[in-house]
Amino acid sequence: MSATDCIVVGASFAGLACAHSAAARGLDVVVVEKKSDPGAKLHTTGIIVKDVLDSVALLDDVPSQLIRKISGVRLYAPNMRSVDLHHPDYYFLATDTPNLIRWLAEKAASSGARVQLARTFTGVSRQQSGFDVHGIGQTRYLIGADGPSSNVAKALQLGTVRDTLFGIEHEYDGVEINDPGFLHCFIDRKLAPGYIGWVLQGVKGAQVGLARRVRTSTSDVRPAMSAFLTKISTLFPAVLSTPSSIRAGHIPCGGVVRPACADRTILVGDAAGMVSPVTAGGIHTALQHGQAVGHAVADFLTGRSGDPAATISATYPRYRTKRLLRRLYDVMPYDLAFNLLLRTTVVRDAASVVYFHAR
Ligand SMILES: Cc1cc2nc3c(=O)[nH]c(=O)nc-3n(C[C@H](O)[C@H](O)[C@H](O)COP(=O)(O)OP(=O)(O)OC[C@H]3O[C@@H](n4cnc5c(N)ncnc54)[C@H](O)[C@@H]3O)c2cc1C
Repeated sequence: MSATDCIVVGASFAGLACAHSAAARGLDVVVVEKKSDPGAKLHTTGIIVKDVLDSVALLDDVPSQLIRKISGVRLYAPNMRSVDLHHPDYYFLATDTPNLIRWLAEKAASSGARVQLARTFTGVSRQQSGFDVHGIGQTRYLIGADGPSSNVAKALQLGTVRDTLFGIEHEYDGVEINDPGFLHCFIDRKLAPGYIGWVLQGVKGAQVGLARRVRTSTSDVRPAMSAFLTKISTLFPAVLSTPSSIRAGHIPCGGVVRPACADRTILVGDAAGMVSPVTAGGIHTALQHGQAVGHAVADFLTGRSGDPAATISATYPRYRTKRLLRRLYDVMPYDLAFNLLLRTTVVRDAASVVYFHAR
């Protein structure tokens, strides 16, 4: 049996961007995804930032019905006073994430990647010039894009994600919120320690969630979410109705794992821990670095460069300042400060840096 050039584990943002770019450069790429529908059982709000549209080929020509523009942020202090933040050149996109992922999978397939659904990575043996991926086949290169609990990382003794937030989101299909042009963000250290709560007008309805620091058990997340829904129900009464669906999951927040690569293998996306420790946004880095990894592996396997694992993982974000801010945000009793200072220039400027990426 001949070896595939590249097996990618995980058909989400990182894996599909990687498979698309590697296949578009002529590699024989197989993507294995444990779910039978890549758009099912997602654990993300699915907001993407403007930059990613300009820099990731996989998103070229994204259908307009899958995205919805959000141009501002309304930031609420714990006492519910708020301030509006805008930047003229910056916006976010809410996405119909299940259908976006399905569309990305089709696009990766149309570039030549073979997307195999309902196929789970269970283990791997190293061979002289590649791997035998158990039950799937032999490959010259193996990419772990299988999320924050990466089994590829565990099987190959690469670094694993240890430091996380836990996020939960309720979706209310067909519900329209007040002021839908804003991403509504709520600071409240009791309900969302270490992160925030949020409300947005998504493509299909309202999306309402919060994320909080978890050190051990996630059992306190649902009571916190109930209290959050009650707190914001005067502004958004529909949040007290039964949600159409619930998404939840871990969000890496401790920076990129080490090592994120070894000979002929590399992790990307959440598997590599490449999520901003401050904003908890990981989709754009998963897409951008997924694409870059696909290009680099194609260059290697077609003889244009050496094994890119070490050099490409050296380009992964270090998040030095953001990890420091994360530590501060974890320990600071910040509720009173936000209640008092929300509308000051200092807080507005700092929030604009966080939300609009230092512009
Ligand atoms: C509640 C919540 C809200 C979030 N909101 C946002 C947001 O609005 N914007 C943002 O930028 N980021 C957000 N994030 C973070 C973002 O979702 C992730 O950073 C992003 O999904 C990472 O993409 P990925 O492709 O690396 O991994 P994932 O999206 O986790 O995908 C991993 C894939 O691998 C598959 N897989 C896992 N194990 C195996 C296996 N053994 N065999 C085969 N397949 C396997 C999974 O089924 C999955 O399809 C949020 C996270 C959470 C939890």
